[in-house]
Amino acid sequence: MSIERETFTKIWCDMDGCSVHIQWSSYVSKSMAEGVARVAGWRKDKLNRNVCPAHPKLKGARNA
Ligand SMILES: [Zn+2]
Repeated sequence: MSIERETFTKIWCDMDGCSVHIQWSSYVSKSMAEGVARVAGWRKDKLNRNVCPAHPKLKGARNA
């Protein structure tokens, strides 16, 4: 008998049509995942969505 269990954590870019994501092959808490994403250049937009570095910051949106 064998047991296979897959645990991973994924954080997706929330922008429409964007499939960028970061994946960990282990359990990562939400705050930790967001912390790593932030270091990698991700940010939160006004609607609290995760936005990957591919999207330029809008002028005037200074809320880091
Ligand atoms: Zn994106």
